[in-house]
Parts: sequence; structure tokens; C-alpha cells
Amino acid sequence: MQGCYLLHFDRPISDRHTAQHYLGYSDNIENRITQHERGHGSRLCQVAKERDIGFIVAREWIGDRSLERQLKRQKNTPRLCWICNFKW
Ligand SMILES: [Zn+2]
Repeated sequence: MQGCYLLHFDRPISDRHTAQHYLGYSDNIENRITQHERGHGSRLCQVAKERDIGFIVAREWIGDRSLERQLKRQKNTPRLCWICNFKW
């Protein structure tokens, strides 16, 4: 499947680096996520793997590069995350 995906990490990657999300684009999301699980495909996922921080796929969107630009332009990834916005 081609499109964008949002990874939500179990906790922030580091004290300095508060990022807890990764927004990515791939023409094969399933394949890319498998790579991320092994710590490949992005620096953030590599560091997460080293620190034993897991992630879940919070969201997926079917689309192309223009969708990726549209999502990244919002610069508000937590708002896109269903896990962060779900009221328990
Ligand atoms: Zn989240």
C-alpha cells in the first residue's frame, strides 16, 4: 500500500529529543514498517530500537507525495495521532 503512516512510540526517544512520533511515506507501508521494527529506515527508529522503545502504527493514509507534504506542513503530528487524542 502506498501512502503515509504515523508511528507512535511508547515514550519520548530521549530527554533532549522529545519526539514521540514519526510520520513517514512509503510506496510499500507494510514493508517499511517491518524495516522500522528492525531499526532500519529512519534515524529515529534506529535510536528507538537501540533504547528498546517500541512503537505502534497509530494511523495510515492512502495517498501520494502531495499527501505527505500536506501532512508534514501541519507540523502538529500529535494532533493527527489517534492514540494521543483518544480519551480513555
Ligand atoms: Zn501519539
